[in-house]
Amino acid sequence: MPQGKIIKALSGFYYVLGEEGIVQCRGRGVFRKNKVTPLVGDEVVYQAENKTDGYIMEVKERKNELVRPPIANVDQAILVFSAVEPEFSTALLDRFLVLVEYNQIRPLICITKVDLLQDGLTKLEQYAEDYRNAGYEVIFTSSETAVGLKELSPYIEGKISVFAGQSGVGKSSLLNALKPELELKTSGISHHLGRGKHTTRHVELIKIGNNGLVADTPGFSSLEFTEIEPAELNYCFPDFARISEDCKFRECLHVSEPKCAVKAAIGAGELPEYRYQHYKDFLQEIKDRKPRY
Ligand code: GDP
Ligand code: ZN
Repeated sequence: MPQGKIIKALSGFYYVLGEEGIVQCRGRGVFRKNKVTPLVGDEVVYQAENKTDGYIMEVKERKNELVRPPIANVDQAILVFSAVEPEFSTALLDRFLVLVEYNQIRPLICITKVDLLQDGLTKLEQYAEDYRNAGYEVIFTSSETAVGLKELSPYIEGKISVFAGQSGVGKSSLLNALKPELELKTSGISHHLGRGKHTTRHVELIKIGNNGLVADTPGFSSLEFTEIEPAELNYCFPDFARISEDCKFRECLHVSEPKCAVKAAIGAGELPEYRYQHYKDFLQEIKDRKPRY
């Protein structure tokens, strides 16, 4: 039986992208017994009735599952930040990175609207360097001048991606620039990618390039650390986590513990001070379970 990916779910139908195009499927078969509700992003086995209709017989095991938007098997979160309007913020970037890392999804940092920078990239290049040293990939783009789009495209190929980032940073504009026929409205609000977190509209995967799939609804719109435990935060800062193997205590939180390798690295200038500050702020927030920003 053929396999495919659910790219849209609507009114009891699942639209499965198979090798020969999109097949409109109903659910049937084994997965019902296991109480699995198929999700957009699911890899499924289906039985084709004809070229356009079929039945989902099996849902393959998921590698992950996002709640907002409801989507399975997300490979990558493209964290969109604008260079200006709104101003680039490392505090907000670190917050997004923690949430993405916690979900074990690979982040890509995309700093857009670079055409609006008056004095060039100098300061942002320094930040980019810091994040590259932490192990992240950082690219600079502009939907206005098409700078960096050729660099962004290969990251989208062969993956399921969600865009994430504040309203107004330029997510819809980037998608339009990558696929002009989408014609998403751009202004920061009241269109698919900019909608608030309380809407229940259906998520759909949009095909971009040869075989890239991108969610038409932004991910990680809730920026609170509701599930993360204090000892888990270390692993959401992979640059800290690597060094923390040398901390004296196994569950070192890098605050007041003696012989802390992370604090030593900060002191030696091997890790950026601001990331450590954000780590401490987030840790306190998790301990208090109250948002601070
Ligand atoms: P979203 O809310 O993240 O989807 O942001 P939008 O794509 O709606 O963009 C918000 C505003 O920023 C719109 O007025 C866009 O025209 C503008 N914008 C987006 N990308 C760029 C860019 O690369 N350069 C410039 N100059 N403006 C941009
Ligand atoms: Zn430590």
